[in-house]
Amino acid sequence: MKLSRESEYYDEKIETMPREKLEKLQLERLQWQVRRCYEGSEFYRERFDKIGLKPDDIKSLDDIEKIPPVTKEELRQEQVNHPPLGRYALAPKENWRELHPSTGTTGIPVNTIWTQRDVENITQWTARTLWSFGVRPGDIIQNSFSYGLWVAGMSAHYGAARIDCFVLPIGATMTERQIQYFQSPGSTVIVATPSYALYLAERMRQVGVSPDQIPLKLGGFGGEGGTEIPATRKKIEQGLGIDAHDYYGLAEIGPTCASECREKAGLHWVEDYILVETVNKDTGERCAPGEIGVLVLTNLTKEGAPLLRYWTNDYAQLDFEKCACGRTHVRAVGGILGRADDMIIYKGENFYPVQVEKVVRSFKELGDEYKIRLVTHERTGADVVTVVAEYIDEKTNTEEFKSKLKQALREELVVTPEVELMKFGTIERTEFKAKRIEDERRKD
Ligand SMILES: [Zn+2]
Repeated sequence: MKLSRESEYYDEKIETMPREKLEKLQLERLQWQVRRCYEGSEFYRERFDKIGLKPDDIKSLDDIEKIPPVTKEELRQEQVNHPPLGRYALAPKENWRELHPSTGTTGIPVNTIWTQRDVENITQWTARTLWSFGVRPGDIIQNSFSYGLWVAGMSAHYGAARIDCFVLPIGATMTERQIQYFQSPGSTVIVATPSYALYLAERMRQVGVSPDQIPLKLGGFGGEGGTEIPATRKKIEQGLGIDAHDYYGLAEIGPTCASECREKAGLHWVEDYILVETVNKDTGERCAPGEIGVLVLTNLTKEGAPLLRYWTNDYAQLDFEKCACGRTHVRAVGGILGRADDMIIYKGENFYPVQVEKVVRSFKELGDEYKIRLVTHERTGADVVTVVAEYIDEKTNTEEFKSKLKQALREELVVTPEVELMKFGTIERTEFKAKRIEDERRKD
């Protein structure tokens, strides 16, 4: 494919395709995928036969609702019963190229495989993602995602190479050297988790390198929530002197499958590769436009271990209107709105760590890091939730400030957690995904 650096799009035809045409393409691909899953995988055949569903019953995109969603727990169980990859890994073994496990913090990881064609497709859509951030041939990309088993590192590497960038495959390690590379050869783009980006910004400040001394101008941040929160995005942008973009992916479906364009009007999905739905978490029914629901994703092209209607446990709100950038692919407005695996239930209310983050990072007196500690109260046996944050100046560590923080947390979370302040730098910094919940509740 011939790339034009002046073009707003990596692949204009597909990215601006009228929805009617796009949906026609999706239906063709869906029907192909459903048929090969039914014919080639006992896992899917059993699920279809149980409810009397045949591939021919999928006549429209709406018919996808007839297919029962599959959860991570079901995939995990399938891999335990039929090792190593479960019976939904339907590509012949000789076509397997890479193995990538899921990265959840709990339970046994779910392994997934990419065939050569899957690698090629992921490379294409990641190149498209980087292009939509503004990356162009000749950019120097510092790939600060962990390499190896995690999907984020490899996909960013492949995508950057595809658009003729110079890649520094450093991974999420060697923080001092990361800062040296910002200076020479002078990386222009960084991709990383938002928590690692904040850590790099903090270290830069400490070693006296100012953002205006380095050519870094753009960043793409994914692998965990954070960038969608305005206060966090601003801290990354100011700390590194860049324009920051949010993106989303998951090992089971594919990396970088939804990303922001330069309008930052939500995450555009790669709808030619993935079919996106949002459904009501209790009834499983399709959400009305604008309603927040669980993301349910279907691999339209994946060969290795395709998923039909994967119940992600992540929440989003979809907007099908054409974006100001000209792209027609659906957007998750405001990013990923909550990751259900992280949900905390406290005093009968639900909240997500991102809400705590939003509050903590709105106080200039506090550092960027925080923790949420869950313990069982000795006497009452009830859960106690404590938000631990870091003060920048000792003078902030007062009861008065703590009650101010508590009140701000109550306004955001509805319930009031306990609050604890620590000296700046005390909470452990992380180079992979931040683990911010410490669950020390009694399990009996
Ligand atoms: Zn757009």
